[in-house]
Amino acid sequence: MNVLECTEVTKRFGGVVALDGVSFTVQEAEIVGLVGPNGSGKTTLLSCIAGSLRATSGSIDFRGAEITRATPNRRARAGIARTFQVPKPLGSFTVVENVATAFMFGRDKLSRIEGLKRGLRVLQEVGLQAHADREVSALTLHERKFLEIARALALDPQLILLDEVLGGLNPSEAAEGMALIGSLRERGVSVVYIEHNVQAVASLADRMYVLNQGRNLAEGSAQEVLADPAVIAAYLGGDVDA
Ligand code: ADP
Ligand code: MG
Repeated sequence: MNVLECTEVTKRFGGVVALDGVSFTVQEAEIVGLVGPNGSGKTTLLSCIAGSLRATSGSIDFRGAEITRATPNRRARAGIARTFQVPKPLGSFTVVENVATAFMFGRDKLSRIEGLKRGLRVLQEVGLQAHADREVSALTLHERKFLEIARALALDPQLILLDEVLGGLNPSEAAEGMALIGSLRERGVSVVYIEHNVQAVASLADRMYVLNQGRNLAEGSAQEVLADPAVIAAYLGGDVDA
């Protein structure tokens, strides 16, 4: 069953057509990789799914219900969580408070004590428990990226949208991050995974989509997509970190 179904999604910013009739599906417990050259519309598609942007036309269905025009809050309550390319933590809060807020102000409306308890459990899952009481501003980039994932997980999502969560990390940190993303599938969560490093996406994704200039360019297994002459041509110019 499709958890997410985007049909002919178009997004215009004035004269700029960021997405031009993009179709995109995600199944249960599936990791779908989303790649494409810079400016191809990846982040815009994620924003249209999460609701921070509204599609100009086309439709988006989540678990069988149309959400094309739903507010971001309604989509979050329905089970869609996202991370941002540039992490957006609550800077004056501690690490565990950042996660606890999702429990206190999200679907569950837990007390502060209960929220902190649950927050600590999520930090354990992403390996940040030792940093629970630190100020977020003291975290390294790597730790902030993992905190982004923890904050998304705290919403107990059915679908998690990851936008370049491993960008800027060293190889061992990135490997840790990839193991964490792989483990989401085992929890039954579906993942849309955007990463500049196409090889990283290929190694994790059950299926991949390639966007180019706001349009669907290719879709299929990592092997199929990476061997596609149209994909290779789109990446010529050295944008791909292969
Ligand atoms: P990607 O994530 O694949 O690098 P984006 O989705 O960020 O690409 O951008 C797709 C296109 O839409 C680009 O041409 C970009 O300049 C344009 N774009 C994205 N967001 C906005 C915006 N808020 N206003 C105007 N143009 C935008
Ligand atoms: Mg982007």
